[in-house]
Formats: sequence, C-alpha cells, structure tokens
Amino acid sequence: MKVLVPVKRVVDYNVKVRVKSDGTGVDIANVKMSMNPFDEIAVEEAVRLKEKGVVTEVIAVSCGVTQCQETLRTAMAIGADRGILVECADELQPLAVAKLLKALVDKEQPGLIILGKQAIDDDCNQTGQMLAALAGLPQATFASKVEVADGKLTCTREIDGGLETLSLSLPAVITTDLRLNEPRYVTLPNIMKAKKKTLDVVKPADLGVDVTPRIKTLNVSEPPKRGAGIKVPDVATLVAKLKNEAKVI
Ligand code: AMP
Repeated sequence: MKVLVPVKRVVDYNVKVRVKSDGTGVDIANVKMSMNPFDEIAVEEAVRLKEKGVVTEVIAVSCGVTQCQETLRTAMAIGADRGILVECADELQPLAVAKLLKALVDKEQPGLIILGKQAIDDDCNQTGQMLAALAGLPQATFASKVEVADGKLTCTREIDGGLETLSLSLPAVITTDLRLNEPRYVTLPNIMKAKKKTLDVVKPADLGVDVTPRIKTLNVSEPPKRGAGIKVPDVATLVAKLKNEAKVI
C-alpha cells in the first residue's frame, strides 16, 4: 500500500510574523520557512507504518514555489521514499490544493493519505476535508492514534468531548493532531540519503487543475496591542473589578 503525505512549506513556528505595511498579507521576505509541524507528524506516522510493514511506499507532495523542494527533502530525510512538487508561483488556497491532491490520488492510487490537521500559516483546517469530499473517500480528522489491520483503519480522534474511535475502509484520508506521535530528529546521514531520492516536478496544468483563487483577501492587520495590567491589593477588590468594570462575573 502506498501512502501520500502532503507537506506544506510555512513560516517557521518560532518566527514572530509581521504584517506587510500595505495590509495585503504577511511579510515572508527573509523569513525562516519550515515544514508545517502537523505535516512532520504525518510523515513520521507514514514512515512508522512502513517500518511496521503495513506500507510499501511513502510519497511526499508539496504544492507551491520551487523552494518547497527543501520541504520535500526534509520529508525524505525523515523517511519518505520520493517526492512530488506541484510547482506554482502563486499562493494556493485550500480548494486548489485539494484539487491538485485529488488528481495525484487518481494517478498514484494510494491506500492512505495523511495530511496535517491544519497549516500554521493560514490555520484553515480545510484541505483534508475537501480532498476527502472531492475524492469520495472516508475521512478521520484530528487523529491521535492510527492502526491499520486487515484492510481496515482504526483511528482515535480528538474531539471536544474527549476521544472518538472510528473504523474506516481503505483508501481513506486522515489528518493528524499533535498527540499522534513525536517526529524523529533528522540525522545528517539521512539528509545526505534524501538528496539522492527521486523528486518529480509537475505543474498544475499537467494535472488538469485550475488553481485560480476563489477567495479574495481584503485586508490583513496586526491584532490589537494588549494593554498593561494592574495590581489589586486584595481579592475583594479583584472580585469587585471583575463584576463592575470587566462585567465578566
Ligand atoms: P490547511 O487546510 O491549509 O489548514 O492545511 C491542512 C493540511 O493540508 C496541511 O497540514 C498539509 O498537510 C496540507 N496542505 C495544505 N496546503 C498545502 C500545500 N500547499 N502543499 C502541500 N500540502 C498542503
């Protein structure tokens, strides 16, 4: 069984993002970029399934600019067997990515597609769900445990009320939550090995997909600055302020 793992290149989670002065978006010039953390968890899970003998090939896919090749090399250093870059100069919205992935699912016929639950740049949490709908596949989002046996997938999901366990037929789409696993450190020998692995580059047009944006961003702005706090002398004053000034109790 093949596994497809979509990996997105995003602003590194340690970077404090800055909004462009004209309010058209986030400034990513000279900013450190990395693999979306939830996608690292997805690659790790796919590689663990391969190590268990459940999976035969792990294919990492990234859609975006040429530099996404670095993200694919990181996925291959974790253990993905090969990479596919769907190269596109423009920023892609989740629906466009889901359509590109659907075309690759038709081509590669994976038994499982493991995405991150959300990308930390747009926080959309949409691509996995849209892909499952477009491809007509069962889906389990926010996975915290995944088991594959006898052609079935059992997935424990993190939901508001606690944990839910689903049984899915394969092929299926899952999206990873934080507690699914802890990705391994990428070692230097594996970084070197990853350089030799196959990385194919295709264009959206090769897959017959129109990636024209459907959503227009009107304005991006910084969140309001937090005001300074105050110290209160005792609990009674605190309660009075919460009641009369903040009106939260
Ligand atoms: P989102 O719906 O944007 O929050 O993204 C959810 C997940 O979809 C990510 O964690 C990735 O697994 C996948 N994804 C989103 N955008 C891309 C992209 N440009 N290339 C590859 N995978 C992507």
